[in-house]
Amino acid sequence: MDNKITQLFNIKFPIIQGGMIWCSGWKLASAVSNAGGLGLIGSGSMYPEVLLEHIQKCKKATNKPFGVNLPMLYPDIDKHINTIISEGVKVVFISAGNPKIWTQKLKDNGITVVHVVSNAKFAKKAEDAGVDAVVAEGFEAGGHNGREETTTLCLIPLVKQAVGIPVIAAGGIGTGRAMLAAMALGADGVQIGSRFAASDESSANINFKNQIISSVEGDTKLMLKQLTPVRLLKNKFFDAVQAAENNCASTEELTKLLGRGRAKNGMFEGDLDEGELEIGQVAALIRKIIPAKEIIDEIVAEYRQARMELIKFEM
Ligand code: NDP
Ligand code: NDP
Repeated sequence: MDNKITQLFNIKFPIIQGGMIWCSGWKLASAVSNAGGLGLIGSGSMYPEVLLEHIQKCKKATNKPFGVNLPMLYPDIDKHINTIISEGVKVVFISAGNPKIWTQKLKDNGITVVHVVSNAKFAKKAEDAGVDAVVAEGFEAGGHNGREETTTLCLIPLVKQAVGIPVIAAGGIGTGRAMLAAMALGADGVQIGSRFAASDESSANINFKNQIISSVEGDTKLMLKQLTPVRLLKNKFFDAVQAAENNCASTEELTKLLGRGRAKNGMFEGDLDEGELEIGQVAALIRKIIPAKEIIDEIVAEYRQARMELIKFEM
């Protein structure tokens, strides 16, 4: 498995672990990197001193490449950028924001920059801003999501047409067969979130992990489209949002209902009623909580098996 993505990051498999808030601390990122993928620390939930601690612990836990995911909505982003540069982090994935703002500064400091996009227009903008690759994340993905609602099956070919830089597929990918499908559509690698949220090393609360592995098809839905669209697992809070939206709640009313820190409450502290539980549609296929290395080994084995089956198939 040697291609543009393994070469860009100097990793064994073109498998990237999504940098998810409250799930992707140094334990998960280093475990994924040690297993041959690219681990990402999800810095959106971390105060600046917590990010510093996680980067330093990650460096001790692995001698393989790892990176940091940085949501541009993060309030203290300049502090995170300074920590990333001073700690010598070599890879940054930026989500939700204008790629022009930070790319040059990061590149000037020798950092490989990847931008997360949900449509071909943003992918082109990211390429023009000088990023090294894009993650094209489709409708199936958990957490924050694009407004176009383009599914991964349609998004990957559209983004491939639009840019010449490597494309990493995300949204709905949790198995080797899904990885093969994404590569068949032209992706150079995959980013996987939900599957790793339910790993042993994920810092998510065990209640949330258990909820993921017991969820079934139809248990997630894209909500709060008037604010920032976010895919949530159904629970009491979800029902409250749905009722408010059905009653044509205003943006102010929805903002008040959401309040502050619900993602922490749900995913980190394990309040399954009142918390925000962000997970992708693929949760319905995740049935066990296992170490990150076993997840990667399973995905690689299934990818190889499915590829052999397809090679034998003739039309
Ligand atoms: P842990 O994974 O147990 O967490 C260590 C620290 O990081 C704790 O302060 C913990 O907060 C916090 N922390 C752990 N995971 C996350 C996460 N995904 N998002 C935000 N905070 C997180 O490893 P250590 O025992 O080595 O602790 C390292 C520090 O990193 C802790 O202070 C931990 O809180 C923080 N941490 C922060 C995370 C985040 O996303 N903000 C994730 C994992 C750890 P707490 O004390 O509340 O458990
Ligand atoms: P809220 O405004 O509801 O709450 C902020 C949360 O972030 C709190 O839990 C707070 O921890 C924690 N936090 C960490 N660092 C800071 C800081 N410097 N200032 C304020 N709060 C901080 O936001 P959300 O929980 O919905 O989102 C948190 C972050 O995650 C945002 O930056 C957002 O852009 C990002 N995000 C990214 C997603 C993605 O897909 N990449 C998905 C969802 C969110 P505490 O409660 O301990 O104060």
